[in-house]
Amino acid sequence: MKNRLSRPAIRSVSKVPSQVTKVGVHSWAVLGGGEDVLHSYGANQGFIVGRRASLVVDTGFHDSVAASILPRVNSKTRRIFVLNTHYHSDHVFGNSVFADSKAVIIANQNCSRSMKAKSEKLLDGYRKRDPKLSRMLRGVKIAYPDITFAREIGTQLDDLLEAAIIHPEARAHTDGDSIVFVPRDRVLFAGDILWVGYHPNLEDADLQGQIEAEASSNRPWPWAGLRTKRGRASHQIPGRAG
Ligand SMILES: [Zn+2]
Repeated sequence: MKNRLSRPAIRSVSKVPSQVTKVGVHSWAVLGGGEDVLHSYGANQGFIVGRRASLVVDTGFHDSVAASILPRVNSKTRRIFVLNTHYHSDHVFGNSVFADSKAVIIANQNCSRSMKAKSEKLLDGYRKRDPKLSRMLRGVKIAYPDITFAREIGTQLDDLLEAAIIHPEARAHTDGDSIVFVPRDRVLFAGDILWVGYHPNLEDADLQGQIEAEASSNRPWPWAGLRTKRGRASHQIPGRAG
């Protein structure tokens, strides 16, 4: 969402909490509200909790977003995995909160490459732009992925609960998108390749890929092979929903 920087002013900084909604037996969506920066520009996050480990899907625009999720997934006996669905700042700036808790951060290899090339500069740009933003981002430290993958990686959250992380073959929002599918819950976390009620950010997008992704929102996911390989999703969580 770096193009939001071009907006003329930071209009409001409210403190409406994100809404945490259970979308499956093990899966929750953290639904951002509004468009202001305190709410990661309305970006959603999610988490899946198993007996052995949990997986957090995106970390928000600043450390407070991440800090609000951490207690919901943390325990002395449970590992934490974090997925960045892509490199945009409102999905990765909360990473260090989890890294400081010894979480393992996962991303597609292109997402990781983009973060290394751009995240520090983006953070610097945000801080210079506006005093409110600068204060808000004071605690943000860029934390890069620990594990990268090319096509797909599976996370085993307990003996029966798997969360598959998939880089779709068709490019849509960026060249490093990932989606998460939880077969037991039939839940799909789509990241910013799916927008509901917001116009999509196309700054890094492949337009045709994004159109196909948006058109698929009410149908079984067509391009990751999920229908044939892993069943179909009954809930799809978009990157943001208005
Ligand atoms: Zn994005």
